[in-house]
Amino acid sequence: MNFDTLLVHYGELSTKGNNRKVFIQALTHNVRVALKGYEGLEIKGNRDFILVTLNGVDYAPVVSRLQEVSGIQRISLIKRCGKDIEEIKATAVELIKGEKGRTFKLESKRTDKTYPLDSYGISREVADAILDNTDLEVDVHNPDIVMHVSLRQEEATLSCHDFPGSGGYPLGMNGKVTMLLSGGIDSPVAAYSLIRRGLVVDCLHFASPPYTQLAVIDKLKDLLKVLNTYQNDIRLQIVPFTKIQEAIYAHVPEPYCITIMRRMMVRIAERVAKKNHCLAIATGESVGQVASQTLESIITINDVTNFPILRPLCVLDKVSIIETSKKIGTFDISIRPYEDCCTIFKPKKPKTKPRIDEAERYETLFDYEAMIEEAVNNLENIYISGGAEVEGRA
Ligand code: ATP
Ligand code: MG
Repeated sequence: MNFDTLLVHYGELSTKGNNRKVFIQALTHNVRVALKGYEGLEIKGNRDFILVTLNGVDYAPVVSRLQEVSGIQRISLIKRCGKDIEEIKATAVELIKGEKGRTFKLESKRTDKTYPLDSYGISREVADAILDNTDLEVDVHNPDIVMHVSLRQEEATLSCHDFPGSGGYPLGMNGKVTMLLSGGIDSPVAAYSLIRRGLVVDCLHFASPPYTQLAVIDKLKDLLKVLNTYQNDIRLQIVPFTKIQEAIYAHVPEPYCITIMRRMMVRIAERVAKKNHCLAIATGESVGQVASQTLESIITINDVTNFPILRPLCVLDKVSIIETSKKIGTFDISIRPYEDCCTIFKPKKPKTKPRIDEAERYETLFDYEAMIEEAVNNLENIYISGGAEVEGRA
């Protein structure tokens, strides 16, 4: 006899009422999407958990896949059976015979308060049956095997194996953000952190051909294919940024070029975000990491918008960002050499404490409004889904 079902425990479900419903609906949907490739599974969600009936499918790869889905606290491998105590005892004995170890402990719980035995009584009966029918011994302090028996209204469940989930919120339950994606290490990690908070990322990249290479776009596609593990469908929009960058470098003193360039990026991102019904802009910035990421710099860049800018990595150091990028599988792609619009035009001495009034003054030197409008109206759309590029959709 084998365990035949996975019980998926909901993650940060402290929210009540309608939020709970949204959480459960979103997670059930995401679990279905994540497990699409496994034929034979039956997936059913209710207010307390999701049951995935295995129907003979090996549980290990299914558990691994579920561990990548945001919003899951824990996954238990269980066996479901009738509530008759004799049936529970027989099932427990058969199951525990398949486990490795010499000692065991029983933990029981009943949500059906009308059941004739209380949880202590259930544990005692089942433990006695195991002692009578196997060589195992009880050890309540340091057991090799812990068997959980749960008595619910509909049925009983038995389990010996729990796997941690990734926590967080189900993807999509908290809205959508415009993620500024460069080809570096940080922004894909930022995107991952947002996805884990239940936010769908809609990506935006500023490209300045011929100064930046087409290979950057391939690199971004590869990064998004990896991020598909956590968000199955991702759109990437490419902003034609060459004209604006050339204008900046023709008119603005070199130390302020990066600041002004970033202010233009934010202006464009805000318009694109609003068009796409995104609730915020997000970046991979981390305070102090480079010249454009001093707090003074962030303030001057941020000054062009009232729209929220999320910086999920703002207080993380590079070592931990790299660690996460290795864990999620983006690191090897991120370190491929490339020329970004930031690196190409990098000033020798960028201003580390740019001032808002100075930035505004330099921006009066050229007419950027029309160029911004043109850029926003000429985005290129790329869709990455299930680890591959797909044709555009409406
Ligand atoms: P990353 O590793 O994400 O490239 P970084 O440490 O290189 O970050 P910057 O180049 O200063 O830092 O970029 C800071 C953030 O600005 C990036 O994380 C990204 O969100 C955004 N960004 C920079 N360049 C671009 C670009 N060409 N297109 C879109 N977003 C960009
Ligand atoms: Mg970069």
